[in-house]
Amino acid sequence: MTVAVLPASFDPITCGHVDIATRAAKLFERLVVAVFAHPKKNVLFSLEDRVDMVRESLKDVEGIEVLSFDGLLVDFARRIGATVEVRGLRAVSDFEYEYQQAALNRQMFPGFEVLSLFPSTEYAFLSSSIVKEIAEHGGDVSHMVPAPVARRLVETFSAQAAPGR
Ligand code: ADP
Repeated sequence: MTVAVLPASFDPITCGHVDIATRAAKLFERLVVAVFAHPKKNVLFSLEDRVDMVRESLKDVEGIEVLSFDGLLVDFARRIGATVEVRGLRAVSDFEYEYQQAALNRQMFPGFEVLSLFPSTEYAFLSSSIVKEIAEHGGDVSHMVPAPVARRLVETFSAQAAPGR
């Protein structure tokens, strides 16, 4: 059985991530969706909230397990027995970074393969940072993120706008 891992910060999970996870789950018996606990960039949501949102958003997709990890992806992959990393490729601009990461990971873990999948075109320009920016300014993101995520974004930004209430 080939185990695949789909790592990201998921701050928060978007419909683009769900699209890639759903496609990947059809290709592997076991897909571990791995939430990166402490990415270098600042995150809006706590690890617990990000994991909860990923679980809620993917609860109807079969063959998926949601875990969190820290440190090197290759070390985590070895621990869970994953030999394939699934990535989403949105545009050519993603390519250079993805290629560099894949090459470095393969140096550290020979035999570890990367499978890049293209999302549905409606999600090709979607990113977690764009979603946060739109939501922060009161824009409607309900078609960009799963419903539980849209609710949490509204809660988070309205609490920030009215502290102490
Ligand atoms: P990180 O912050 O850990 O880089 P991201 O959420 O930005 O996490 O991206 C992680 C993975 O998810 C990458 O492979 C990225 O290309 C993919 N991804 C993010 N948004 C989309 C999207 N809209 N469509 C397809 N793949 C996506």
